[in-house]
Amino acid sequence: MEFIKLDDTTYVCDEGHVRFFLLIGEKEALMIDSGMQVTNAKELAEKVTDKPIRLFNTHADRDHTGSNHEFESVMMNPAEFVNYKTEHPSQKMEAVFDGDIIDLGNRKLKAIALPGHTPGSTALLDLNSGMLFSGDPIQKDGRIFMFGPMRDLPAYILSLKHLLSLNEDIKEIYPSHGAYPLNMDIIPELIAGAEKIERGETKPQRAEMFGNVIDEYDIGTDILLCDVKQS
Ligand SMILES: [Zn+2]
Repeated sequence: MEFIKLDDTTYVCDEGHVRFFLLIGEKEALMIDSGMQVTNAKELAEKVTDKPIRLFNTHADRDHTGSNHEFESVMMNPAEFVNYKTEHPSQKMEAVFDGDIIDLGNRKLKAIALPGHTPGSTALLDLNSGMLFSGDPIQKDGRIFMFGPMRDLPAYILSLKHLLSLNEDIKEIYPSHGAYPLNMDIIPELIAGAEKIERGETKPQRAEMFGNVIDEYDIGTDILLCDVKQS
């Protein structure tokens, strides 16, 4: 496993089913998520930079936090703390709120909260390059988990609409799963697909996952895994 160059100061480490990123500024570096099966992501990052490395999690799902134990503290949206602390009770946390800027030294990243997939799902926008590191809410050819406690489809739709309304200069989207990079054209497609589910216009496939009975909705761009609707 290794970090591969996307550009001179941006790297990706791809585990196949999930990927995470390393961004290097003039003063420090930032890892965005830390893998799933990989447990030495920081060690891998130190092979490509000698700057101090901080960690930001797009959210607290396990496939994004594999190497978190290597870091003294972790930044994430505080709406994720409640989920995260059940498995990492003693880790030091730093809150990143919607609109906060993480400055790596001449490289500013703006936090954009996109609640829905999880309550504190948060993307980071590189204000220099227009690269959006989106985590899980925005994917193509992916499977977006929307079932179980703390996940909410109406919130997801509102978040994507909010992102469209922001008037930020987003040039490319780098999701944690599925094809990449994406462009903003995917957002209206995701909204339309999710709204069809809400209106009951898409027929689901009943399935089982982690012992839960769920409904899988193929919305074209992706498959959304949802709770079975109570009738
Ligand atoms: Zn994920």
